Amino acid sequence: MELLYVLIIYTTIGASCFYLIMCADPNKKGVGAFLNRLLYIRLPTFFKVVAPRIFGRKPIELVFKGFNYICYTNHPLIQIMYLAIVIGGFVLYILKGFGDHFPNRRLSDLHHYMAYIMTGCCLVVYYKVCSVSPGIITKENSRYYQKKYNKYDGYLFVENNVCKTCNIVKPARSKHCRICNVCVAKFDHHCVWVRQCIGEKNYKYFLLFLLSHCILCLYATYIGGMVFYGRLMDDKLLELNYYIQGRPEPVKGSLFIAFQYMFHKYTAFFFIVIICAVMGVTLLIFFTYHCTMVAEGVSTNEKIKKSDIKHALESEVKDIDQKLKREDIPDEEKKSLIQQKKELYKEFDKVQQYFPRGFWRNLQEIKKL
Ligand SMILES: [Zn+2]
Ligand SMILES: [Zn+2]
Repeated sequence: MELLYVLIIYTTIGASCFYLIMCADPNKKGVGAFLNRLLYIRLPTFFKVVAPRIFGRKPIELVFKGFNYICYTNHPLIQIMYLAIVIGGFVLYILKGFGDHFPNRRLSDLHHYMAYIMTGCCLVVYYKVCSVSPGIITKENSRYYQKKYNKYDGYLFVENNVCKTCNIVKPARSKHCRICNVCVAKFDHHCVWVRQCIGEKNYKYFLLFLLSHCILCLYATYIGGMVFYGRLMDDKLLELNYYIQGRPEPVKGSLFIAFQYMFHKYTAFFFIVIICAVMGVTLLIFFTYHCTMVAEGVSTNEKIKKSDIKHALESEVKDIDQKLKREDIPDEEKKSLIQQKKELYKEFDKVQQYFPRGFWRNLQEIKKL
């Protein structure tokens, strides 16, 4: 059983890293960008080419089909998984944490009630983000949205762009979601956890969803941390000598050995506290990432698109610079290249910040939507 818990802890850490690397901009420099390109561009390409040669074409096709089903179709499996994680984790925490370690002289009994209230709040926010429509654009309301979002820069959003599926003129900042098969106003992203798009109307609930779950996980980590700190001090675990398998002599206690001892003795509770810590930190980083986008006034969709366009323009500028370095280049061509470069810089400015009005002002706007 302990081995299974360790396996789940490592899987959670791996999945969290996988999730966070997705937030890194692949067009930039640095470790995050490198890992993003490696995980989301190079590895799938390598997998597509090499894996069928090793494992055969059929099994790999099946893996891709399964992956596409999980990530790109509208199914309730991830929602069921979410409920299983939250409710299962909560029950385990109550039974093995509050059940075995309370009353506790370091912690008030009120924490017990707080756990119920906070988990309840998280579930209500989750219901809200799942049930509130993201702002679906229909033939009836498309004119309203075109008036509301009419800032077309010709790059991120082009005027009079018709969605072929919905047969409507797409307002600026909207996008057609191929999973939900609808156009969504101020589209942010499609979230598999809530089984719908995150857009104009439910983005505030999405932010609240991240924040409430982040607070819950960090709160649970604090309670667990205090419980184990109490055990460490009260049972004087650092002063004990420990017998370790395969060693005839006892080993003097250290923090690492004491942790191992507590994991062995209170496995289920130690496990759930570590999971809460990993999830709490992951959610905190993800929430901060979304707050930076609120400050910039861009959606996830716009941030990705903007980065791609800027990267393409930067590549063109680099090409021109390479040509200008050549000594045999005629003056006429040189002039034309410099002009082209100037034009590109002008274009570059157009795809700079989209709504740079600051965090609080943008947050107020989001709250009103
Ligand atoms: Zn559409
Ligand atoms: Zn969607």
